[in-house]
Amino acid sequence: MPVTALGACPKCKLGRVVPGNFAWNCNRWKEGCDFKIRPIYAKKSLSESHVKQLLKKGQTRTIKDFQGKHGFFDATLRLNEEYKVELVFEERSTVIGPCPQCEEGHVVKQVRSYNCDRYNEGCEFKVWKTIAKKHLKDTHIKALLKQGKTPLIKGFRGKYGKFDAVLRIGDQGEVVLDSSSK
Ligand SMILES: [Zn+2]
Ligand SMILES: [Zn+2]
Repeated sequence: MPVTALGACPKCKLGRVVPGNFAWNCNRWKEGCDFKIRPIYAKKSLSESHVKQLLKKGQTRTIKDFQGKHGFFDATLRLNEEYKVELVFEERSTVIGPCPQCEEGHVVKQVRSYNCDRYNEGCEFKVWKTIAKKHLKDTHIKALLKQGKTPLIKGFRGKYGKFDAVLRIGDQGEVVLDSSSK
């Protein structure tokens, strides 16, 4: 029975992507092309139109109601450089690292702060992007989450002028600005 191709294979560029038993695959799999799109990502079934968008544009429009550990979320699917499908979260959640306070959530970058994505569940971990007039960078927050403290950051500004400090995670998982340790 002839099957309808949904689009050209982006990986080998020669095959066509057709529905198979467990996934959409390239019809040149016998020749060694392993391109495939699974039918379900994060408990969400893809439609043929999602697959067509992926093949044509390399990404889908926003798809609603993926289901993760922390509930439903919206994301787009994208083909990465290896032609594998990956989930791209909406910009509200650029994950910087694991949350040091609840140890379950992820710290995500938001407009004015970095905070835990489990704030709906009551986690209050938050780092303002600007502390003592110093604008923090993602690399600072990554170091903070990974090592429990940042390297010495220069150029905070307080009442008595400029000072250098490290940010560290306190005993309660809170963020402490520490100008005494070097
Ligand atoms: Zn192919
Ligand atoms: Zn948390």
